[in-house]
Amino acid sequence: MNQRVIPVADLRYAARAPRIPLHAAPPTGHLADRLGRPLHDLRISVTDRCNFRCSYCMPKDVFDKDYAFLPHSSLLSFEEITRTARLFAAHGVRKIRLTGGEPLLRKNLEVLVAMLAALRTPDGVPLDLTLTTNGSLLARKAQALKDAGLKRVTVSLDALDDATFRRMNDADFPVADVLDGINAAQRAGLGPIKVNMVVKRGTNDAEIVPMARHFKGSDVVLRFIEYMDVGATNGWRMDEVLPSASVVARIHAEHPLVPMDANDAGETAKRWRYADGSGEIGVIASVTQAFCRDCNRARLSTEGKLFLCLFANHGHDLRALLRTDHTDAQIAAAIGLIWQGRDDRYSELRGAALSSPSAAPALAAEPAPRRVEMHYIGG
Ligand code: SAM
Ligand code: SF4
Ligand code: SF4
Repeated sequence: MNQRVIPVADLRYAARAPRIPLHAAPPTGHLADRLGRPLHDLRISVTDRCNFRCSYCMPKDVFDKDYAFLPHSSLLSFEEITRTARLFAAHGVRKIRLTGGEPLLRKNLEVLVAMLAALRTPDGVPLDLTLTTNGSLLARKAQALKDAGLKRVTVSLDALDDATFRRMNDADFPVADVLDGINAAQRAGLGPIKVNMVVKRGTNDAEIVPMARHFKGSDVVLRFIEYMDVGATNGWRMDEVLPSASVVARIHAEHPLVPMDANDAGETAKRWRYADGSGEIGVIASVTQAFCRDCNRARLSTEGKLFLCLFANHGHDLRALLRTDHTDAQIAAAIGLIWQGRDDRYSELRGAALSSPSAAPALAAEPAPRRVEMHYIGG
């Protein structure tokens, strides 16, 4: 019988109980994992819900009206998120990105933004506070987010052609409203704005050059992301990945490009500027050119589990510590231990397997427990 199994919300992904060291040394602001990678960037998912059903992230046949999203009581509260973020900042995190699901669906998000904007690094510097959104509610919320202390936004937009975009978001949402959101964010001073386009060969690759042309000469930095095999529901196939090198070649053929240096170690995008001086683009080659070696990002799920890799199949249950009688020093020490034990480098290993054809089919056979979904830990 073809029976549908609905996961119990809090048990949907495996999680380990963090270990608290007996002698908790205070954070030094300089953690390194087993591969020597620092901890600089924390992505916080504030909701697992979304008003879009992008097929590469939340395909409608899985995330339908029967899907069990997390109940409100499972979500970290704003106070819990801020407390956790403060401990991460003490460990060296300098950048926080709010994400989801669709983060602007979380009620009163600007209140959380204001709480996070008050945090400081150990050197007294405010954190680089940013947010990734599908843009659907941005026109309404941009000014309030800016007033609360948000610095920048990244907006996802996969096509300029309305029919293609509506098909990809699978919620019949029009391009014009996202463009309105981008304009509102620009007016509010939430720049420089980045626009992320996930490229799926055969679905929206015809939009690469029109998108580049549209944003060329504006202050918006367009970034092309390779379609990734994240989660276990999007039916990913390698033949639907268009390598970033081809994206660059297609744009370069019409608008010559020159490579640029990275801003930061750990930056995911390779940067290119237009030879005529009219701005830059970025490509994020997460499949064809893995950048695990510099990966300095941790992810906090909506229900307070810490994930060390986008492709992890288990998290570390920080909420269990936050909701029991543990001190900041104990929780910070637990976070330190978790990061020091990290050796994740999934994309690098996937790259090695893909370059050896006999190993490729093994990638499709997922070991249990199942891999975490993007909408739950954020991109
Ligand atoms: N809902 C917000 C949005 O779409 O911007 C924030 C969350 S979304 C999970 C974050 C980013 O992940 C988006 O830019 C989205 O395009 C990207 N993303 C989701 N699934 C992906 C996949 N399978 N491959 C590559 N990028 C993906
Ligand atoms: Fe929603 Fe963003 Fe996922 Fe699209 S990519 S379904 S907008 S969370
Ligand atoms: Fe980082 Fe994991 Fe992505 Fe590698 S695969 S870059 S370790 S998130």
